[in-house]
Amino acid sequence: MIAGIETGGTKVICAVAETGAPGTIVDRLRIPTTSPAETLGAVRSFLDGYASAGVLEAVGLAAFGPVNVDSSSPSYGWITSTPKAGWRNTDIPRALGLGDAMPLQVVTDVTGSAVGEQRSGAGAGLRNVAYVTVGTGVGAGFAADGVPFLQRSHPEMGHLPVRRYPGDDFPGTCPFHGDCLEGLASGPAVRARWGRPGEQLGALQREAVPLLGFYLAQLLAAVTYTVAPDRIILGGGVLKLPGLLQASREQLAEVVGGALEGHPLTRPDSGYICSPALADLAGVHGALYLAHDLAGNRAPLSAV
Ligand code: ZN
Repeated sequence: MIAGIETGGTKVICAVAETGAPGTIVDRLRIPTTSPAETLGAVRSFLDGYASAGVLEAVGLAAFGPVNVDSSSPSYGWITSTPKAGWRNTDIPRALGLGDAMPLQVVTDVTGSAVGEQRSGAGAGLRNVAYVTVGTGVGAGFAADGVPFLQRSHPEMGHLPVRRYPGDDFPGTCPFHGDCLEGLASGPAVRARWGRPGEQLGALQREAVPLLGFYLAQLLAAVTYTVAPDRIILGGGVLKLPGLLQASREQLAEVVGGALEGHPLTRPDSGYICSPALADLAGVHGALYLAHDLAGNRAPLSAV
């Protein structure tokens, strides 16, 4: 058996599958993210049944960041400088009771989602896939041929500096930078700007959609310029705002202008920017595929 775990900012999903069938979940746990002790303790209890029976062969972990993804580091799998209360310097593998002998791959939640969507979702059949999430935080992850793009650290694209929407003087909510992309367009930024979450904006949507689309288009342009993926999958709670996906596509074409003539992004109906197919299971599916690969089913992964 293999296990995949996604520790998200608001919920944790843990799933188990047969080693040879990572796309078919046979057992699952879904709990809210509270304290590390309570949350990871519940995941540990769930996994213990499989681990103690000696049937667990490998584990994939897709964690909210910042998280140490350097497998050569003694603090591999630790949450690092998060502003999330109580989670700073949490050693997730240890809290889950995973011994050193257990094969483990750690990636960020967005990278896990990129792998999941590429292997069995909206990116299936494509070589290079980017996954962008806009929710509590803003982030991007990448998968090439089903394998995560790994470095000593992971991408932090949510903190990109951006051009201002005309007339926008909102100071931003990022604790590090104020008005970086995450500070201007994340879920907390939406609440701070308009005093309510995105799903309750009502008539304010007319103001919010073009403004948020303007900012997200700059992130999509940066992903395109630097990585040139075959497709960008755009998910996260903020994208539930009606019209925002399409506004982001249209503004992307404008932001890039004539710099990428003939690229699918110049046609907002091309499908180059699309919604996730696996909804909120993309990350845990990606984690299962990584565990499947670790269990000897594919060439081992290593940091670049
Ligand atoms: Zn920032």
